[in-house]
Amino acid sequence: AVASCKGGVGKSTTCVNLAYTLSQSGARVGIFDADLYGPSLPIMVSPEYGKSKLVMDPVTKELQPVEYEGVKLVSFGFTTEGSAMMRGPMASGLVDQMLTTTDWGDLDYLLIDMPPGTGDIHLTVGQSIPITCAVIVTTPHKLAYADVAKGIRMFARLNVPCVGVVENMSYFDGDDGKRYFPFGEGSGERIQSEFAIPHLVQMPIREEVSSGSDEGVPCVVSD
Ligand code: ADP
Repeated sequence: AVASCKGGVGKSTTCVNLAYTLSQSGARVGIFDADLYGPSLPIMVSPEYGKSKLVMDPVTKELQPVEYEGVKLVSFGFTTEGSAMMRGPMASGLVDQMLTTTDWGDLDYLLIDMPPGTGDIHLTVGQSIPITCAVIVTTPHKLAYADVAKGIRMFARLNVPCVGVVENMSYFDGDDGKRYFPFGEGSGERIQSEFAIPHLVQMPIREEVSSGSDEGVPCVVSD
């Protein structure tokens, strides 16, 4: 599970690039976009036009994932509905149905792009399938800390270990050769040590990360 408690911190970007990195290492990978209200997978990964809709097998009634560069993709954004306007229980039911009736085949990794926050859908996913581990994505802002702590505690309650913290937009390297930390330093390390999380990854702000997502080709695929 790739999660963040705030929106816009780079959770989907991390999930997608992690998935394609695992795939490039030879693993069989799928991505499940559990964000019904704002699915970003169809924007970040653009399969060929015409192959970008989920289809249901008429005999088995299983959903056939969309596929791009060998990674299997399921998102509400790949249905004809696009994005949902519905109440919590209905949304949770739909996520459960999409997750468990998809014909994923044999996978080494299924990455779940969780919606922001700690709500119904997180609990549903946590109860529907055994999540092996969670990666929490955050930014260096002090304000992000309380939310991250909430996320880690939620996974602890679901008995899911958090194996990594990604401190995204951590720094950028200027043309002058200097490294800048526009949002401050140290919050990732604080989270890592306070919650004993094994891995901390600091991701720089990079134009290619953003343009890759906007163009539908994750930067680890294009570069
Ligand atoms: P979330 O899933 O947390 O809502 P997104 O992954 O959609 O966040 O990222 C929000 C925006 O920030 C996107 O436009 C994305 O391309 C951009 N972005 C994320 N990480 C980086 C980065 N390291 N460098 C530059 N842009 C980034």
